[in-house]
This record gives sequence, C-alpha cells and structure tokens, in this order.
Amino acid sequence: MIKDQLTTLARLAAIDTQLEELEEELGELPQEVKQLERAMRAKQSVLDDIRLQLEEAQTARSNARVRVQELHDREKLLGEQQKTVRNNREFDAITREIEAIRAELKEQERLIGSVNLTEENLQQRIGEQEKDCNDAQELLQAKEDELRKVAEEHDEDTKKLIDDRILLIGTLPSEARALYERIHERFANAAVLMRHPRGSNGQPVYSRGACSGCFSAGSSLRIQQIRKYDAIHQCEHCSRILFTDECIPAESED
Ligand SMILES: [Zn+2]
Repeated sequence: MIKDQLTTLARLAAIDTQLEELEEELGELPQEVKQLERAMRAKQSVLDDIRLQLEEAQTARSNARVRVQELHDREKLLGEQQKTVRNNREFDAITREIEAIRAELKEQERLIGSVNLTEENLQQRIGEQEKDCNDAQELLQAKEDELRKVAEEHDEDTKKLIDDRILLIGTLPSEARALYERIHERFANAAVLMRHPRGSNGQPVYSRGACSGCFSAGSSLRIQQIRKYDAIHQCEHCSRILFTDECIPAESED
C-alpha cells in the first residue's frame, strides 16, 4: 500500500518538476522579447535623431539660399546706385557695403556647400540605420512568434499535466497528500529517489544511500526502513519524501 503511494508520489513529483520546467522555459522568452524591444527602440531613436539633424541642416540651407538671393538683389541695387553718386565719399560708402555683401555671400555659399556634404553623410547614415532597424524588427518579430507558439503549446501541456496531477493526487490518502503539498511549497520535487552507490559487482548497495534532492546521505536506519514500505519516509536533512528505485514512474525512466 505504501509502495503504491510512493509510486504515485514519485509520479506527482515528476509532473510538478515538468510544470516548473515549462514555467521556466516560458519565463525566459518574455524577457528576451522585452530586451529586443528595448534594442529596437534604441535603434529607432538613433534613426529619429539623424533624421532630425538632416531636417535642421536642410532648413539652414534653405535660409542660406534665401539670404543669398537677398544679398544678390542688394548688391545689384547698390551697383545701380553707385552710378549716380555725387561724390567720392558716397561712392566709397557703397563700395564698402558691396564688399561686406560679397564677404557674407562667400560665407553663405560656404555654409550651403557644407550642408551639401553633411546631407550626403546623413543620408548614408540614415540608410544604414534603417537597415539596422529592419534587422532588429525582424529579430523581434521572430522572437515574438516563438513566444506565441511556445505559449500555445505550453498552455496545452500545462493543462494536460494539471489534469493528470488532479487525477493522481485524488488517489492518495489525505495524510500523504497533505504531506506532499506541504513539502511542495518549498520544493518543485517534493518526492525524490533514494540513490544507492554501486558496488564492485555493479549492483546497488542498498545499505547505503543518499537523497537525490539535497544529496545528503541517509542514516543506515532510515535506509533499512525505506525498503520495508511500512511508512512514508522523509529525508532527514531536507524533508523531501524518499522513494525507492522500485517506485520510479515508467515515463521518467530514460
Ligand atoms: Zn534531502
């Protein structure tokens, strides 16, 4: 009877271990998706920044072109006025103004030239950054698809395991069930195999053994009792329920 209970407890522990593994498997994926989203946002923000720089440079160039036109108009007007001056003083004053206009024109043309260079450079960087963003987007998309797929499978597997768990636990006497649930609050594997070392003949030495949950050696008394199946025995160190190799659930043997 105790042996049947131990077999059930061993199967229960195998189910609970699988449930925890499923949770962990899913646990990393949402984190990875979040990281990729962050990386994506960072790349997008760099792209926005370069686009803004380009816009500012183009605005500066438009302003410079308007100013160049104004300066040319003024220069032309002054040229006309210079023909009708009445004295040298007026002539010199206009000459100085025209010189100032030409200096500024030079400055504005230089600015336009430098924007042209900057624009070329920024366009190239935008192209590269757009490719970077697209790559990041594809990576993110793939990870999101993976998460969706795993979550769907996960839901099915989890549902099946929980159904099995309910069936199994229903077959246990209430004390065994309460004991298991109490230990399960601390460990995913609340019931573990008592492992025995192998002798020189390759056979297990049943007089010695250790808990495979905390790896502590069991006392010789405990080890003797455990194979008598007179009660449910727990590890003296971690309190996990100990079962023997005769109670290993078939599906977890590999
Ligand atoms: Zn233990």
